[in-house]
Amino acid sequence: MVPALGGVNLWPMTAIDLVGDLRFVCRMHPVLRIALLLIFSVGPVVAQERPSSFVDAATVVPGLVAEMRYVGDSNFVGRPIDGYEKPVCFLTKQAAEALAQVARDIAPQGLKLKAFDCYRPKRAVAHFVRWARAISDMKNKQEYYPDMEKTRLFSDGYIAAHSGHSRGSTIDLTIVDASGELDMGTHFDFLSPRSNTNNPTVSAQAHKNRLLLAAAMSKRGFAPYGKEWWHFTLRGEPFPNTYFDFPVR
Ligand SMILES: [Zn+2]
Repeated sequence: MVPALGGVNLWPMTAIDLVGDLRFVCRMHPVLRIALLLIFSVGPVVAQERPSSFVDAATVVPGLVAEMRYVGDSNFVGRPIDGYEKPVCFLTKQAAEALAQVARDIAPQGLKLKAFDCYRPKRAVAHFVRWARAISDMKNKQEYYPDMEKTRLFSDGYIAAHSGHSRGSTIDLTIVDASGELDMGTHFDFLSPRSNTNNPTVSAQAHKNRLLLAAAMSKRGFAPYGKEWWHFTLRGEPFPNTYFDFPVR
């Protein structure tokens, strides 16, 4: 029997350590074996620490407003999301430094950047997937997906099993001036074709603002995502294949 490992983060145990341990467990007295397996299956989660290659972007990016939506209720789930313990925008150093250049570029026009989400732990993505499957849970539907059937959030690509945010060089953000957020036609995480950068139903001013954000980000190396005006990934990101799971704290 293979022990139930659900919820237990095996890091930093290697696969060879694990196989060795399982062999040892199999030679034990049955009662001892069951006891050990029970302890193992409900044992403490080994917290992964934040790598030194990640920084709090607010310490690097001049004027950055960090309004981290997944730490509270103001998001499409309507509840705090797993893995977000503090409202901090963590990014890889490379992404934070590129973002700092964007902030410096727009500062002379009286503009600042406001982040909604930055590095996202894998466990948060798993939370989104669980929520998307719980079809009857529609707490914040009116505000975030009023025209969308919840059953279509997967098939239409709004919720996915993996997120580029977990690689640490992707950010969701907008621009603010002295009177607040620029009009972008929809708010952040509005799950609708209206959030596509070039959606024709938003006002000319909103479209202009979206293009202003996209141009400012592109100039400093971020690739836009045409389906969400707020989502950008650093080109040449330092961890293109690594999905991190350390908590935001
Ligand atoms: Zn995003």
